[in-house]
Amino acid sequence: MSAMIYPTSNFAEQDKLCIERAKGVYVYDSNNKQYLEGMSGLWCTALGYGNEELIAAITNQLHRLSFSHLFGGKSHSPGVALADKLAAMVPIEDARVFFGTSGSDANDTHYKILRYYFNAINKPQKRKIITRERAYHGVTVASGALTSLPVNNRHFDLPIDALNILRTDSPHYFSSHLQGESETQFVDRIVANLESLILHENPDTIAAMIIEPITGASGVIVPPDGYYKKVQTILRKYDILIWVDEVITGFGRTGNDFGCTTMGIKPDLMTFAKQLSSAYYPISAAVIPGYMHDAMVEQSSANGVFGHGYTYSGHPVGCAAALKTLEIFEREHIFEKAAEAGVYLRKQLEKFVDHPLVGEIRGKGLLMALELVPNKLKNTRFADGKVGAFAQRACQEHGLIVRAVAGNSIALCPPLIISHSQIDEIIQKLTKALDDTLIYTQ
Ligand code: PLP
Repeated sequence: MSAMIYPTSNFAEQDKLCIERAKGVYVYDSNNKQYLEGMSGLWCTALGYGNEELIAAITNQLHRLSFSHLFGGKSHSPGVALADKLAAMVPIEDARVFFGTSGSDANDTHYKILRYYFNAINKPQKRKIITRERAYHGVTVASGALTSLPVNNRHFDLPIDALNILRTDSPHYFSSHLQGESETQFVDRIVANLESLILHENPDTIAAMIIEPITGASGVIVPPDGYYKKVQTILRKYDILIWVDEVITGFGRTGNDFGCTTMGIKPDLMTFAKQLSSAYYPISAAVIPGYMHDAMVEQSSANGVFGHGYTYSGHPVGCAAALKTLEIFEREHIFEKAAEAGVYLRKQLEKFVDHPLVGEIRGKGLLMALELVPNKLKNTRFADGKVGAFAQRACQEHGLIVRAVAGNSIALCPPLIISHSQIDEIIQKLTKALDDTLIYTQ
């Protein structure tokens, strides 16, 4: 038995798929069995595996400067170049960028920057953050409290009240129509709930609402049309900032540059990780508007040092990996190609519409999910996540890696470089796995 404590794993389960090597969209286990990586690892390997150009950029940076930091008085050119590049890409005015190494730490950075900023402009009471039911924003203490999935919260006793976290409805319409509610009524109800929460709490005490444009780990939920327009109207009305978590949806994943473009959201703050470096090196970014940064700079004469930073904030190798990733995205028109591949994937997945287990096919671009249900006519749900777990294993048996999320939804998030024939391969393998799963449920 290994000394490893595995992350986000059931410690009672002994079976492990040991991945040894990878190339393109395929990974290989210790028996040399090939799998199509339908999840881009953990929603992150946008450019697939073994990209020689990326490997060269990383090794060159290692030779040139394997480490330097950005604390008090130090800088380095890959960090500056990446911050400027990212700032020019995002739909945030005069954007400023703070680097970390994971989505969780970038969200924690935002949590702290919001406090620092509102203290700096003399509004210290503006400190509460609204998150949504079923949201996933990471697992550190603050980002874990912003996450609403019980598995990440329960048993950890996170100081959710002390952190001033508020929760509002998940925008998943699925099965509401069976209770006689139209999609518009559903949106109006949950937006009214949001407004009631804000008024109940006092808008002057609420700093921001965190939003994943299309959710990943919580089941690939695409909110109904009109939801974000109404949510934004409410948030603007009460002067509450819109904090968009693009850790999964950033960089071509949903058919556009960012998830907020796809969903029509105008962000104030943005969080990036994962595809920022195509997972060739850990790096994340918390992006804020220039006016927030200006207020923090002004405060520097009173506060002195802004005491937040990680040893590996803006690690030069991570910055070099991200710069090269963004260059390849642009040069190879990866977002446009991924959008086109997404249309093809959706079309192929629609073939499952009559499959007895498939209750909903949802997603955008190359971020998709099938929700498995016991009775599709009634859109009922299985009592536990065993069917999703079985389907995930069955896919693996057939050489396809997927992920069961939110119980029994099967997520697909293949590398952005996937071809049509590889999408066909996903569909063939998924068909066999779903048929096996149907037998399992009977
Ligand atoms: N935010 C979202 C939307 C995520 O999906 C994740 C991870 O999956 C995170 C934040 C946390 O990122 P990390 O696992 O790099 O800490």
